[in-house]
Amino acid sequence: PEPAAVPDTRIAVECRGIVKQFGEGPNALRALDDVSVAIREKEFFTLLGPSGCGKTTLLRMIAGFEYPTEGSIRLHGEDIAGLPPFKRPINTVFQSYALFPHLTVWENVAFGLQMLGRPKAEIAARVAEMLKLVHMEELAQRRTDQISGGQGQRVALARALAPAPKVLLLDEPLSALDYKLRKEMQIELKRMQSETGITFIFVTHDQEEALTMSDRIAVMSKGKVLQIGTPWDIYDKPAERFVADFIGETNFLATTLLGIEAGIARVRLPSGVEMSATLAEGYVPSGAATLVVRPEHARVVPAGGPTADQPSGQLSGTVENVVYFGTDTHIHVRLDEGFTFMVRQQNSRSQSCGVTVGERVGIVIAPDAAQVLRD
Ligand code: ATP
Repeated sequence: PEPAAVPDTRIAVECRGIVKQFGEGPNALRALDDVSVAIREKEFFTLLGPSGCGKTTLLRMIAGFEYPTEGSIRLHGEDIAGLPPFKRPINTVFQSYALFPHLTVWENVAFGLQMLGRPKAEIAARVAEMLKLVHMEELAQRRTDQISGGQGQRVALARALAPAPKVLLLDEPLSALDYKLRKEMQIELKRMQSETGITFIFVTHDQEEALTMSDRIAVMSKGKVLQIGTPWDIYDKPAERFVADFIGETNFLATTLLGIEAGIARVRLPSGVEMSATLAEGYVPSGAATLVVRPEHARVVPAGGPTADQPSGQLSGTVENVVYFGTDTHIHVRLDEGFTFMVRQQNSRSQSCGVTVGERVGIVIAPDAAQVLRD
């Protein structure tokens, strides 16, 4: 898909029509296949996708460690194809953050500024500011082989931010941290980004991480960008099956398209039940239509047949499984259509969800919650 037009915000990095081929002939591999993204200034932008989809390759190209086979990369409107990495106002934080173990925290953060030949007083002030930003002032004189993983990641961030790059690239920087620390650092990273106003381009395969931190996300698969949008767009209006499936839990329903009126589709399920659904971005009508419904957008109700407002009847089936998760309960219903549908219901205090395995139930989908996917 083409990147969304952004008339009044400035674009920091624009990748257009990027192709990256590794190798030649029959063994050639297209790691990136016509990728276009426009990342705005001061944006927290995430490249999200499974292992091998090409996100690191794209990041390395923006950094200048790798050159595109085709396509252009612009930084604030200027083509940077010919610039070597060290001449780009871009820094990278890697997963293995590679600090100098024999140097102190302070010396690690000062290193890049010293290489740039900045005056001593300026370096001292800047290092102090960066250590404050990452909450590491107290450990300034500690050697970096004597600090924890989470502290090391903070120092790596301070070091990368110290020369005030225009863009910071982050390649899975949190994946080596344990769960609790990772959660903390997600919030911290977002804070550092908004405090510094630097454009962050973040790579991850973790959908939850992408949803919690990003202003916008590009979902990638097999060298292509499938959808670009806010976390809300991506979660609530997935354009394709892969996006819906990769992010969060989803129900898919195979239906037949009866017609489209005023942007709303009318579809029929194999059991004859008819319902309305919104259309995914870029949807092109065809006979068969896959519906997507998030589990929290449906409710289990007592079984019932056709009613005045639902003459074709409602989705119905038999409860297969009830799984309690503390905050919510997952109810798996074997539909008469022949597949399982999952409903997520919020738990209320001292009251169970009220359904039992083996019971016949109906399912009500919230208005506007069903969407027809692009093929
Ligand atoms: P991961 O999360 O595992 O790092 P990724 O999405 O970042 O995955 P890339 O590292 O960009 O994926 O790799 C994309 C594809 O390109 C993979 O199939 C990979 O094997 C291939 N690839 C990457 N670098 C090279 C290279 N230098 N030579 C040949 N193939 C490469």
